Amino acid sequence: MVQLQNQFLQNSPSAGDGTMVADELLEPDVQIITSGGRIIPAHSRILASASPVVERLITSPQKRRSSDRKIHILGVPYDAVSAFVQFLYSSKCDEEHMEKYGIHLLALSHVYFVPQLKQNCTRGLAERLTIENVVDILQLARLCDAPDLYVKCLKLLSNNFNTVEETEGWKFLQNHDPWLELEILRFMDEAESRKKRTRRHREEQSLYLQLSEAMDCLEHICTEGCTSVGPYDMDPSKNKGPCSKFLTCHGLQLSIKHFVTCKRRVNGGCLRCKRMWQLFRLHSSICDQTDECRVPLCRQFKLKVEEDRIQDDATWRLLVRKVVSAKAVCSLSLAKRKREDEPRVAMNYY
Ligand SMILES: [Zn+2]
Ligand SMILES: [Zn+2]
Ligand SMILES: [Zn+2]
Repeated sequence: MVQLQNQFLQNSPSAGDGTMVADELLEPDVQIITSGGRIIPAHSRILASASPVVERLITSPQKRRSSDRKIHILGVPYDAVSAFVQFLYSSKCDEEHMEKYGIHLLALSHVYFVPQLKQNCTRGLAERLTIENVVDILQLARLCDAPDLYVKCLKLLSNNFNTVEETEGWKFLQNHDPWLELEILRFMDEAESRKKRTRRHREEQSLYLQLSEAMDCLEHICTEGCTSVGPYDMDPSKNKGPCSKFLTCHGLQLSIKHFVTCKRRVNGGCLRCKRMWQLFRLHSSICDQTDECRVPLCRQFKLKVEEDRIQDDATWRLLVRKVVSAKAVCSLSLAKRKREDEPRVAMNYY
């Protein structure tokens, strides 16, 4: 206890204010009774200033009257209470105490409303989470209303469920707290479907991006030509390329060549031609050029839509919308990259 007093005297802003304060400090006026009856003498003013709950305990009419004031902190090891009191004096908690009594300190900081200690414990315990202790800490975090720690526990638990399931902690929880077990299982279920949704979304996005890239390539093949395919009225030696999207462009060129020469196409018996035909139709759906468009079938598709000879169903319209937005996202990020590149290009030039 002497150690505590000295520490406080060093840290206290009022040290040196006058002898009265110092005298008061030197004389402990409250006793903290711990499990096993061991006593920690302390200063009521310091405890009260650090914890509103202790303050209420000390200033209650009953306690004020009694000459020997006592606070009972039971159910926690003596050393943990000592570390807690030390925090109330110094606002500091060393790593060793956190390591040994983190769980107890979290409970005490919650019960006696010491937010700074609670924050330290939440962080300290989160750093020390293991497969073995995660269930215990999860239960404690829930009891002590520490949501950050609670979510961290849930994540660790659901990522390692097969091993956590084998621990004593989990078995105990299953037998004693079926509601919490249910809550955890539900969280895991939601996390799993969240993961699935994200994966599906990413796959879809990449498909739309591929399609939007194919649309760009189709346009540039049909207007300026790329390596081996170009507009019929253009000198093939003037074909440009290979372009920046040559992987897609090359595949598309092969498909166009096939489309032009395929014999089975006529009766709709060729899957490859069907795909090419869909790409032409997709182009027509997103093309905003009226007469000048040089992509084959663009005008024909537009006419057919106008004459109501083909119906764009909802799925098709959704596909068109997604490809258009993928195209927009792509050109935006390209523009951004270009802007970032510009200074470098300029520097090279000079
Ligand atoms: Zn190309
Ligand atoms: Zn074919
Ligand atoms: Zn077009």
